[in-house]
Amino acid sequence: MKGITILGATGSIGVSTLNVIARHPDRYRVVALTANNNVGDLFQQCQQFHPDYAVMADEQSAQDLAGRLKTKASHVQVLSGIEGLEAVSRLSEADYVMAAIVGAAGLLPALSAVRAGKRLLLANKEALVVSGQLFMDEAEQHGAEILPIDSEHNAIFQCLPADYHKGLAGVGVRRILLTASGGPFRNMPAAELVRVTPEQACAHPNWSMGQKISVDSATMMNKGLEVIEACWLFHTRPDKIQVVLHPQSIIHSMVEYTDGSVLAQMGNPDMRTPIAHALAWPERIESGVSSLDLFAVSRLDFEAPDCQRFPCLSLAYQAIERGGSAPAILNAANEIAVAAFLGRRVNFIAIPKIVESTLAAIPIADSQNLGELLEIDAEARRVAEQQISTLV
Ligand code: NAD
Ligand code: MG
Repeated sequence: MKGITILGATGSIGVSTLNVIARHPDRYRVVALTANNNVGDLFQQCQQFHPDYAVMADEQSAQDLAGRLKTKASHVQVLSGIEGLEAVSRLSEADYVMAAIVGAAGLLPALSAVRAGKRLLLANKEALVVSGQLFMDEAEQHGAEILPIDSEHNAIFQCLPADYHKGLAGVGVRRILLTASGGPFRNMPAAELVRVTPEQACAHPNWSMGQKISVDSATMMNKGLEVIEACWLFHTRPDKIQVVLHPQSIIHSMVEYTDGSVLAQMGNPDMRTPIAHALAWPERIESGVSSLDLFAVSRLDFEAPDCQRFPCLSLAYQAIERGGSAPAILNAANEIAVAAFLGRRVNFIAIPKIVESTLAAIPIADSQNLGELLEIDAEARRVAEQQISTLV
């Protein structure tokens, strides 16, 4: 029996994780569940999964949750804040930690799990984008096992040989083919992008996801963040990663070997597949995902990405090429720009402009010290807000 902490349990990935776990009560036990401020949903999850701990991001929400649980004579211990999140990430009862908080807010709890040597199921790509070198170094030092949940990275992991840690060239890999659906605006002319609404941006053609990653998919920043994520996870350079538009989202990514072989991982677009893979690895378990009906899919298409209409992808490549604090600045500026777009304060095409001008305004540091990275993240958020105030 493996104990699991789920960070961000009420989100899209969190709910899919609980769906898989509920199919295997003999294998997994929920040790802790966490949420931002959605008391109602976390209360329901506590009723169903009986964790030892529940964490809310703020004290008021924690008190509300504790009050509701008390009426049910529940034994769930309710904690709050970043200390609570870090504490449930390093519990000895938790063998596995699912990192499914969205944004850099998930960095410290994910790092806490890494430092406790856990198996980390990493959905929270922003944590790795912000602190790549530091995160991977800590994982190595503490013997933490990082298994990718992002569907592309999970696919790449499945297509790589077990000893890929030696470096991709050493195991005969020529390059990674990172697939992208292209999002809801793949075919929209550049001139029309200025008018798109948050509702349109969040209506992804193939995947049902949280709002932030949906907007990132629409700008293609999501793919940019994934290029950076892949560089760290698979010890490779950005020039070894080719983004391939594949609108059907059936192939989740590919690995090309020096002999010309290309291995692909395919399946229906449902995050329960990578979640079940990472939970059970190296075994395989039922995920609830139906069989891939190739006759219904009938064709698979591929295109080159258009970096003119979707400049976020180029900005992300430039940031990882530059290295140091550039990816952290890119990520922070993007989080602020996406929130401003969702709040209808800026239009869709302002997002890459805010990211670019924030990157240009802050000197890039080479340090990988956690305190400095957190300061850089805060500084980039301030600068991005200033850029927004000049736009509105
Ligand atoms: P979501 O918005 O649906 O859920 C986010 C979860 O994090 C919620 O439980 C929320 O309560 C919690 N949360 C948000 N802000 C928080 C804060 N400041 N402090 C503490 N908790 C907070 O997001 P999602 O779509 O589930 O995505 C989660 C992560 O997984 C993201 O990093 C995303 O990029 C990644 N991811 C998601 C998908 C997907 O299909 N949804 C696919 C690949 C990767
Ligand atoms: Mg992905």
